[in-house]
Amino acid sequence: MIILDKWKYTIYVSEKKDGTAREIKDFIYTKQVHGNALHILDKKIEFIDSENDGIISEIPKIKVWVLLADCNGILLMGKRWYGAIHAWRKGLQNGMIEKALDRLKNYDEDIAALHAYIGPSIRACCYEVGDEFLGYFNKKYFSRRDWKLYFNMIAMIKDILRDADIPLKNIEIHTDCTACSWRFFSYRKSNKNQRIVVAVEKK
Ligand SMILES: [Zn+2]
Repeated sequence: MIILDKWKYTIYVSEKKDGTAREIKDFIYTKQVHGNALHILDKKIEFIDSENDGIISEIPKIKVWVLLADCNGILLMGKRWYGAIHAWRKGLQNGMIEKALDRLKNYDEDIAALHAYIGPSIRACCYEVGDEFLGYFNKKYFSRRDWKLYFNMIAMIKDILRDADIPLKNIEIHTDCTACSWRFFSYRKSNKNQRIVVAVEKK
């Protein structure tokens, strides 16, 4: 388990050696469906019994997680409020990150003082996509190699965070691509049922 002390928060990223998400305890999670619902967590429970792809809370000393295998686990950490967001292609199309940032803004968080962390996810080296993706997103996020098309989700997420006024120095991105690193589970690398955990805990 990677454990990072950042600002007023502790970040957790599970590795293959920690086992699958089912074996990891003491975290609060929700049913993720590649949708765009955000759950506002106002009490300590083990499992949120509705479908969400983001959790926002201000409760300290609980571990709020998202489950991933190639998708992006994005943690947003403010002075008081924080969030854990699951974002993949559909999440980016649905404006999941913008939605979470809007919610934090509504809670009077100073977005320019937010910190963001993105866990290991599939990167432009391995995320081969179909040409239909060119209709979904700006062409600048794509590259071609050997006639294959690759999508750079990290570049797009960084732009979304920066456009929302989070300074680049406040954005930290794990360096590993889940598909070419052996440290993490990857859906594309045939770990169909295993997930990694990216979690945040306010101290
Ligand atoms: Zn890769």
